[in-house]
Amino acid sequence: MASKSEKIFRGSGVSPGVILGRALKFDSHNRFILRMHVNDVDEEIRRYLRAIEAAKEQLKTLKSKLEMKLGREHGIILDAHLLILEDKSLNAEILESIRKNNANADWAVMQATDRLVHAYQSLDDEYFRERHSDFEHVAERILLNLSGKRPFNWEHLPDNQIIASRDFNPSNFATMDLQRVRGLVLESGGRTSHTAIISRGLGLPAVMGVGDFLGGIVTGDQLLLNGDEGQVIVNPTKERIDGLSGRLEAFGAKKRTPSPAQSSSATRTQDGTAISLRANTEMLHELSAAKNCGAAGIGLFRSEFLYFGHPQGYPEMEEQLAVYRRLAREMSPYPVAIRTLDAGSEKVGGSQDLTKQENPSMGLRGIRLSLYARDAFLIQIEAIFRASCDGRIEIVLPMISTIEEIWQAKILIDQVRSKVRESVGPAIQAVPLGAMIEVPAAVFSLEVLAKEVDFLCVGTNDLIQYMLAVDRGNPQVAYLFQPLHPTVLHCLNHIAKVAKGLNKPVRICGEISSNPFYAVLLLGMGFTQLSMNPLSIPTIRRVLREIPIDVSRQIAHKALTFITAQEVYEYLTTVVAKLVPWDLSSYAKEIAPQNGRNGK
Ligand code: PEP
Ligand code: MG
Repeated sequence: MASKSEKIFRGSGVSPGVILGRALKFDSHNRFILRMHVNDVDEEIRRYLRAIEAAKEQLKTLKSKLEMKLGREHGIILDAHLLILEDKSLNAEILESIRKNNANADWAVMQATDRLVHAYQSLDDEYFRERHSDFEHVAERILLNLSGKRPFNWEHLPDNQIIASRDFNPSNFATMDLQRVRGLVLESGGRTSHTAIISRGLGLPAVMGVGDFLGGIVTGDQLLLNGDEGQVIVNPTKERIDGLSGRLEAFGAKKRTPSPAQSSSATRTQDGTAISLRANTEMLHELSAAKNCGAAGIGLFRSEFLYFGHPQGYPEMEEQLAVYRRLAREMSPYPVAIRTLDAGSEKVGGSQDLTKQENPSMGLRGIRLSLYARDAFLIQIEAIFRASCDGRIEIVLPMISTIEEIWQAKILIDQVRSKVRESVGPAIQAVPLGAMIEVPAAVFSLEVLAKEVDFLCVGTNDLIQYMLAVDRGNPQVAYLFQPLHPTVLHCLNHIAKVAKGLNKPVRICGEISSNPFYAVLLLGMGFTQLSMNPLSIPTIRRVLREIPIDVSRQIAHKALTFITAQEVYEYLTTVVAKLVPWDLSSYAKEIAPQNGRNGK
């Protein structure tokens, strides 16, 4: 009998490792939900509420299983799902939709979910775009409960399975037999999805975003999954397998970083230098993750998420106040840095339609928009000052490129401060002001700008984009987005030096903070304050604790002598890997320079 022919699929390698296994096609949600007319609306509402209650119970159980199995920081991911279930406005929207339309709960759930998924999918930032899957996963659970079906039973799986699915709910990791499942291939998803994050944490090779994969395979097909290169080969030839045998064995023998345990103790390097690790957050439900991961405050609250998908277009003062208050109270005694709106004009209900800007990342956004749509800015600042009575709050101004922007913002901020002081009296607290340093112009006028503010936040995501003229959301030029580009390194080193000379606190807030190799480099340059996605904090803490400050300085010094990103990469990954006892290879991949478009 002729052997089945080999087929090659490509996607993004979101968790490294090369493995051979058998495809297990997993149909997580092949949804087809019809709208039906229900006569007894009250009973339909009860049915919905029962499904929600059941979902909460299930998630709580899954969460404790996941924590026991993988460590506390992974259970936190399900907190996000629980918070979505408990979201008052989402529930109200669904109940209203059932009532108003005499509709079945399943349809109402899908309507609300589709709206949110759509809103999230249209965001520029990959990390936030990926959050759409949290809503889908919660809806999937509610729909399962409404249907009365039982969840997939993971028991008695054969060995060596590679899950092949459109999407994968991270709660499945709680019940899945990790001895038998060896990898994951998904048609959807990207490296910042929760499923990708957990896969990396588990050392489970995964390739995501593999278009039209499921139609090309059947359960039982042999798969050669290459998480290093983002490739999946269906029915690989013997020569192909032999060619990769070294990497197959090497992967089998390696152990990834053990799940770092939760810790609230202060972070210090081996020789006692204090390091502050804060969390970047966008929504309230991430607060528990920040606290559980031991964040020393919120380093960046991306307030634009209060505006995205808001029915009115923008949140009123009271609504913002409630959020900022909770942030301040829950993080107390640690500080919370609220970044003022950093989004396009569509978020503030401006009369002019400025949403169709030719080049939005260089357009009317950030502080430019706040100074243009002043009323919205004044409302936001008022909410921030009012919330200052409840904890330690800081303001950060995004996209600063001129000193005048800071001056103008300060005049408005002072006006609001006086107004709020009149109404709340002495309870109002000092609110330190910071500037995002994320535009090259701000780097080269740093001395002047820094003197106008209390602290600096370096937004490396944008800084790299503008320094290297690479649109951070454009996959066509993703290979040029090189965090290790020597120019980026020199730029960061310059910021560290100027800030030190002025004795100005400075915090790195971009994605690079969450990469352990990069974190060592930043430490060596003199950055002792980092802010990152909450789940990365335990790993960064663990790694930095291993590094003597002098050694990090030597590493940074040497890294600054190279003239290509590739040289920096090779040096940095080799030297840091020798200093820590865990396998950090998957993190190396995050910062590896990629081949150019011509494939050289
Ligand atoms: C940045 O630019 O690095 C940053 C932290 O902000 P954002 O990713 O929201 O632009
Ligand atoms: Mg930015």
